[in-house]
Amino acid sequence: MDTYTFTKKLNVKKSYDAIVVGGGVAGCASAVTIAKNGKSVLLIEKTNLLGGLATIGLINLFVPMCNGRGKQIIFGLAEKWLRDSEKLSYNTIAPTWQKGQPSSYTEDRYMQFYSPNIFALQLLDEVVSSGVDVLYDCIGVEPITEAGVVKGVVTDSKSGLEVYPCKYLVDTTGDSDLLRRMGVPVVKGENFYSYFVKMLTLDGLQKGIDKNDVYYAISAECGGGINLYGDNQPPNVPKWSGTTVEEVTDYLIRNQLVLLDKISKTPKNSRDIITLPTMPQFRTTCRIDGDYTFSVKDCYRHFDDSVCAINDFDHKDYLYEVPYRSLIKTGFDNVITAGRSISASGYGWDLVRVIPPAILTGQASGEAVSLALDKGLALSKVDVKKMQSNLEKANVMIHFPDEYVPEDKTVVIHGKNQTPTGHF
Ligand SMILES: Cc1cc2nc3c(=O)[nH]c(=O)nc-3n(C[C@H](O)[C@H](O)[C@H](O)COP(=O)(O)OP(=O)(O)OC[C@H]3O[C@@H](n4cnc5c(N)ncnc54)[C@H](O)[C@@H]3O)c2cc1C
Repeated sequence: MDTYTFTKKLNVKKSYDAIVVGGGVAGCASAVTIAKNGKSVLLIEKTNLLGGLATIGLINLFVPMCNGRGKQIIFGLAEKWLRDSEKLSYNTIAPTWQKGQPSSYTEDRYMQFYSPNIFALQLLDEVVSSGVDVLYDCIGVEPITEAGVVKGVVTDSKSGLEVYPCKYLVDTTGDSDLLRRMGVPVVKGENFYSYFVKMLTLDGLQKGIDKNDVYYAISAECGGGINLYGDNQPPNVPKWSGTTVEEVTDYLIRNQLVLLDKISKTPKNSRDIITLPTMPQFRTTCRIDGDYTFSVKDCYRHFDDSVCAINDFDHKDYLYEVPYRSLIKTGFDNVITAGRSISASGYGWDLVRVIPPAILTGQASGEAVSLALDKGLALSKVDVKKMQSNLEKANVMIHFPDEYVPEDKTVVIHGKNQTPTGHF
């Protein structure tokens, strides 16, 4: 049996202005923004917690949100959520940044480790109190389309297969799952061996007690722990796109067994694993091939349709703007993406996928959908100036100030010269 046609009459449930599929940080930011603009919005999350990689994936670090010279670049909901995280869990913000942007030069970077579990609960509070309807333990299966326009989403949950009608769809599954299934062109990525877990060790406990701070009590261990550049990926281990059930399973089995092997070599009374990630730690799985593909070559470039300024989290100085066109594909009028599935390539994909930019593109997608709803427009026809003005009112920096651009515009990423040409 090569293929099988499955047909079934499905119950139609409540209708929404917008449905956001995927409750990672991008999806939460999108849904909160849509709800705050007075629209009805449903957030569908397949697990039992919000936050995606930033919580259940145990990636608990807001990477630097400044230029490495004491100037903050990333604001908006990313700034709010970073500060919220510090109120209820660890405070690892550099002393120079404790009260906001420092008044004098510093190379300290503005970043923050937080408790992934507490942050997941805080996200839920933010989402629910903003008026978003949430469905947990519910999979967005595929969009229902008529002539390329999404009319609703098929869901799978304890209630069985059902349909939720909507006017606009935001795909924040991280993997473009719904957009891919409706035919939006996509590009797949490659992922390395990586499986971070949270540990409690006797040494860590002692450190936490000595410092009177539980942050020091919790440490990390990894299965295959390969960095974002893929250094030292073992040649006998595949690189996974993470877009098939077989690949996801192979990635999980290999990493989990490596972890077990490592753990079994440590004294059993000295440690425990306190949290395993409950989603695969894939960085770049599948992104849309949107109207514009962002890359490192866009360093120091201003875009008329910028939705946010961002900085390079791993290098000083390098500044970027994310164009609205990388969130959409013209011809697919009522769908948009945000977070780690926007149109970006190479190291540019790494720059936009990390937590702070993912929150900001989520926020931008929410503003875009809200504006489109007001006039029943295709997302490619949204008034970009109005969207930028709304985002600025929500504390997002749209264009980086030119005075932050250094004289020397050489861009070197992981030893490779990637200096942009043509737009200075
Ligand atoms: C190993 C590793 C290390 C990293 N280190 C850092 C770091 O130190 N700092 C940093 O800022 N970033 C880091 N990142 C990147 C960052 O964590 C993510 O890119 C970011 O959190 C992505 O957010 P997102 O909302 O776009 O997607 P995701 O977090 O992937 O969220 C997608 C959500 O959609 C849900 N979902 C998926 N499919 C469906 C479906 N069909 N129906 C319903 N729900 C669905 C998922 O359960 C999930 O909750 C790292 C990533 C990895 C993998």
